[in-house]
Amino acid sequence: MPENVTATENQVDGQPESTGLENLLHEERSFPPSPEFAAQANARPALYEEAKADRLAFWARQATELVSWRTPFTETLDWSNAPVARWFGDGTLNAAYNAVDRHVEAGNGERVAIHFEGEPGDTRTVTYADLQREVSRAANALNALGVTTGDRVVIYLPMIVEAVVAMLACARIGAPHSVVFGGFSADALRSRIADAEAKVVITADGGYRRGSASALKPAVDEALAAKDGAEPTTVEHVLVVRRTEQDVEWTQGRDVWWHDALEAADVQHTPVWVEAEHPLFILYTSGTTGKPKGILHTTGGYLTQAAYTHKNVFDLKAESDVYWCTADIGWVTGHSYVTYGPLLNGATQVIYEGTPDSPHQGRWWEIIEKYKVSIFYTAPTAIRACMKWGEEIPNKFDLTSLRVLGSVGESINPEAWMWYRRVIGGDKAPIVDTWWQTETGAIMISPLPGVTATKPGSAQVPLPGIVADVVDDNAQPVPNGGGGYLVLSEPWPSMLRGIWGDLERFKDTYWSRFPGIYFAGDGAKKDEDGDIWLLGRVDDVMNVSGHRLSTTEIESALVSNPLVAEAAVVGATDELTGQAVVAFVILRGEHAARAADPEGAAAVELELRNHVAKEIGPIAKPRKILVVPELPKTRSGKIMRRLLRDVAENRTVGDATTLADSSVMTLIASGLAKPAGSED
Ligand code: ATP
Ligand code: MG
Repeated sequence: MPENVTATENQVDGQPESTGLENLLHEERSFPPSPEFAAQANARPALYEEAKADRLAFWARQATELVSWRTPFTETLDWSNAPVARWFGDGTLNAAYNAVDRHVEAGNGERVAIHFEGEPGDTRTVTYADLQREVSRAANALNALGVTTGDRVVIYLPMIVEAVVAMLACARIGAPHSVVFGGFSADALRSRIADAEAKVVITADGGYRRGSASALKPAVDEALAAKDGAEPTTVEHVLVVRRTEQDVEWTQGRDVWWHDALEAADVQHTPVWVEAEHPLFILYTSGTTGKPKGILHTTGGYLTQAAYTHKNVFDLKAESDVYWCTADIGWVTGHSYVTYGPLLNGATQVIYEGTPDSPHQGRWWEIIEKYKVSIFYTAPTAIRACMKWGEEIPNKFDLTSLRVLGSVGESINPEAWMWYRRVIGGDKAPIVDTWWQTETGAIMISPLPGVTATKPGSAQVPLPGIVADVVDDNAQPVPNGGGGYLVLSEPWPSMLRGIWGDLERFKDTYWSRFPGIYFAGDGAKKDEDGDIWLLGRVDDVMNVSGHRLSTTEIESALVSNPLVAEAAVVGATDELTGQAVVAFVILRGEHAARAADPEGAAAVELELRNHVAKEIGPIAKPRKILVVPELPKTRSGKIMRRLLRDVAENRTVGDATTLADSSVMTLIASGLAKPAGSED
């Protein structure tokens, strides 16, 4: 992407050309940590110094202090077989023992591990001692079904306690799990089962969503059914959790009730000690840009970085905090920041089954008030939805227990960041905007609360122990103020060890653009302080008259207008300029009606085009702005710009199987039949 993501001397339409970030930075605000927060923070500025002085010694210390080893490691990193790393390679350990048993052994068995809140309002409190019993039973039950160390288990469950238990039971016997988000279709499930060659699937009759029971088991039955021309799957058994009491089809000999299997199982189970590089899980990426990749993570390095980041980025105090990450375990955030990070650190956390708007739009805030949640981690898409619903809703609840807020999944628009800070965080809780990927396994770039002065819209700095940079086409670091490709130049403990069964694709996808350096696929920029701003995927970057424009910047400019709740921009082929900016916007509730007739829509379009020109510069002015009722998103809530590009270029819409709601594209297409305004 590059050089000219920054402003140049070029003139466009007689005006100084600029592409934006420097404008957004003009209004940049920065929030230094309060002295009280800094005085009690887990993270200290000295962490950066320590990691810089000796990075491997730093990671060895984290691994020793945060993880319990059966056999201590003597070698920190072996990079001789790059890009496949070995971290702590001669150590042995068990992930479930680290997440559960050692806390019980340390006398904390009665500490609450999970406050579960079901969507219908049912609740369950699970202590570490309860978790130890249940995970041990589940591990014995899996053994009884013939699952042994190295076998793969697919988990397809709603957000219930059993989801965490199932993951830990697999880890306890050294069987890599592959969690598939419960919202995926039978086809998506089948392809993941086939790719991972799973022996067992753990599912439920169904779960609760938006006030009613939805079914899960039928999708498993369909995924495993014999199909013309397709190989039968390797699955021997299906373990079924009863959650909703709905009737299910039953395949004798294959299907087993979870409660029957656990009841029959012994409550004692000796964890299987595995090597640090033993596979812990395979997880398919969100599929925002295309076909998901089966990302492989191993045990020792992954657990080290999950625990280290959870402790320092969220400032976790295990004795007093109540932590809540809203991510589903179907995503990497649910792996690292629901299951492994928090439990390794002995945290007390909330797990909630349902959506934020059921039975009312204040459900999340009600839960925070009820459990006195002190650390809250969610995604920009959810924050924007809450902004759209209006701040009167969170204002009805007592949110004063909150002391750290986190964001992950996409860039957070500065406008949404400020709203999050003010309305949810009471203008005091620091916000950590955490950049990372399924592939990185754990947080890589983020402020450290109590240390870093936070900036709305910027993920800011690589964590101590992480070496990240923004480089140009020739892999040279760009100076402050410059834009380019975000890369990770040194291996890190929780890095992916490959794409399941496809070493070549692994090398090709991540290590070929800049030999020897991991390229993450994202564009970024360094501001004058050297802080990193994510600019969007490089595949999405637009090239208008030779100027490279960032999706994130233009979207943030649109969202900073009071009319706009959400925005997505894409580059569409344009005869004159190469590409032209096309924007899709959702208006905020009270303004939505304004675009109902063509005249109103034209006025909205004019106002927003001028707004972008003013905020960023005339070069970034969208050629067309379309008011839409919804945006296409993945099931994890990320905007799928490639589908919008198809719409903007009048193409048949491409592969939409990872889309959360397939009717959205029809809605958008029908909206386009009545153009919302004129172009010039
Ligand atoms: P696929 O790789 O299959 O297209 P995906 O990239 O959406 O899917 P994930 O691993 O869930 O799969 O998401 C990682 C990506 O999410 C990052 O590469 C980045 O584009 C985006 N992202 C995550 N956190 C942030 C953040 N804090 N700021 C900006 N972007 C972020
Ligand atoms: Mg990705």
